[in-house]
Amino acid sequence: MSKVIYPGSFDPITKGHMDIVSQATYLFDEVIIAVMQNSNKKEGFFSIEERVQIIREIYRDFNSVKVITGSEATVDLARLHGCKAIIRGLRSLSDFDMEIQLSQINLEISNNSIRTICLFADKNFQFVSSSMVRELFALHKSITNYVEPLVAEKMGEKRKKLCQN
Ligand code: ADP
Repeated sequence: MSKVIYPGSFDPITKGHMDIVSQATYLFDEVIIAVMQNSNKKEGFFSIEERVQIIREIYRDFNSVKVITGSEATVDLARLHGCKAIIRGLRSLSDFDMEIQLSQINLEISNNSIRTICLFADKNFQFVSSSMVRELFALHKSITNYVEPLVAEKMGEKRKKLCQN
């Protein structure tokens, strides 16, 4: 069975991420979404557990999509789950610059065993990012074109909780 890992922050998962997942499920038997803690980013909007829960709920009926988290290097997580490749999404030249560096580091630290496959963003979601969604939400603007209804609902619940504290 061919498996691939799709790592990211997914804070929150957007329709752009979901398009990459759907492209990857077309190519591989199983796509493992790995919600990673990014040490360069400060505390997120959702906790890692909340992100995992939301993504699991979204893909509840998809046997070919699994959701995991881990604190080890992505290449180690990939190996642990029997994946030879990492999927990443490309929106722009700046993504490309970052992804080429990441792919080279991952190749090196995995002794050439874990390859990176970049898939192009759908033209409708090329400008969509989690940070843009968080920004719009903070400004009380609609995010429904960019995320699943469940994500918008959970973000609303989170805001209510934060306001109560
Ligand atoms: P990271 O912090 O690892 O960049 P993200 O959740 O922001 O995590 O993104 C995970 C991956 O998904 C990255 O490869 C990123 O380029 C890609 N990605 C993010 N948004 C989109 C989008 N709208 N379309 C396609 N790929 C995307």
